Amino acid sequence: MPPVAPRRPPARYVDLRITRALFEGVRSHVENFTRGEEAGFLLCSLSRLAERDVLLANEWHPVPDSAIARNANGSVLSWSSEFNSEVLQRAVDLGSTAVLVHSHGCPGPAFSDDDRRNERGLFAAFSRILDPLLTGTLLLGRGDACGSFWAAGGHGGLVFRRIVVVDAPLEIWHSGDDRITASPSRARLARQTLAIGPASDAKLRDAAVGVVGVSGGGSHVVQQLAHQGVGTLIPIDDQFLDETNLGRHVGATAADIDHTLKVDIAKRVINGIDESIEVRAVAERFPSRETIAALKEADVVVSCLDRFDAREDVNAFCRRYLIPLVDIGMTIRSTGEKLARADGQVIVSMPGRACLRCFFLTDSLLARERRERPPGYDENPDAVGDPQVVSMNGVLASEACNSVLDIVTGYSNGRRVARQWQYDGRTGELLSGDLPSRRAGCPACAEEGQGDPRSA
Ligand SMILES: [Zn+2]
Ligand SMILES: [Zn+2]
Repeated sequence: MPPVAPRRPPARYVDLRITRALFEGVRSHVENFTRGEEAGFLLCSLSRLAERDVLLANEWHPVPDSAIARNANGSVLSWSSEFNSEVLQRAVDLGSTAVLVHSHGCPGPAFSDDDRRNERGLFAAFSRILDPLLTGTLLLGRGDACGSFWAAGGHGGLVFRRIVVVDAPLEIWHSGDDRITASPSRARLARQTLAIGPASDAKLRDAAVGVVGVSGGGSHVVQQLAHQGVGTLIPIDDQFLDETNLGRHVGATAADIDHTLKVDIAKRVINGIDESIEVRAVAERFPSRETIAALKEADVVVSCLDRFDAREDVNAFCRRYLIPLVDIGMTIRSTGEKLARADGQVIVSMPGRACLRCFFLTDSLLARERRERPPGYDENPDAVGDPQVVSMNGVLASEACNSVLDIVTGYSNGRRVARQWQYDGRTGELLSGDLPSRRAGCPACAEEGQGDPRSA
């Protein structure tokens, strides 16, 4: 037999996801050159995806100046092994990994010979101790970055791709290895591009948005996100269309009744608008394993669910993985033929700020739902569905899509971050306000940035 060349394992991409507040802390340290170069370690959890590993930044440990030895031009040569041990111990205690960060203060960053020497000295050992987690080093430029990563004592096969700074808008610091497809601007988006700028087209094409629940509200959402030009959509819903859905399900037809999965209607609507949009539909109920794997790929998640406990599952997930969440919900109560209440709500919850569980999804609300509508209630064929009106759902869905557009492109100039909208379906009033501050002791925020559960 002819000799077979050993096949190299395919490269895995490495991203870093970090909240704006933590990233500002890192930058203010490593971009201050008054004493020379500075450095520090970011402790990170991991979100392992099919083709990439996303490091989720949790803690910043700057190297104290007292521990640093510099060479004549101020670049870092080394620091005390005590500091390394402290950081490593903290990482092991948390089940996290450590990523070294520094800057040379210029765009198009490239590691120096000193950096490469330090890296080999440090990460061959670190990566064996932190195995199976990857570890490595990042060099910040000016809106760009380069990185070098290690796993299990070895170096190679891990390709640093980008830093995603979680805020509105999402800010991406690309590496030289981040293949940004230079695609022509899309003619179909011409009018939107006139509104929100020529950079919006590529940002939207590059974005992945998960939509959990694609019925009453979610069917509007996937349709609008497709029109807006979002490149990857991840609709999640385990139900088939039934006759009662036809009163409010955008894109559904009479022929779909009892035949078509709601995610398949979503896919048909999306690809009917633009067949180049990648649709990763999952016909399961969140949080199944498949839905979690699919949703981890999202840059933004929109939750369009009826049940509070389901919304809390999505909220907790988005906290763990540092993913912005846009949640919509509507409660209608009627007396005879008149609406007593028609209260809608859109909440934009950004990592690092208040989440749904900080103020709205309270223990008492969740407990009341468990009493009145235990899980599985909606699967009972005799269950009375909630009152719904398609045109009112559409208002909330449109505001949710405005928020997604803002998180991806930043068109509002920061006016939509950590906001909520209250809608009165009776009068048409739509009022916006700031979210409250985070609640100490919030169980979802306590797990912020924890990523994948630690394997035993
Ligand atoms: Zn350096
Ligand atoms: Zn919270």
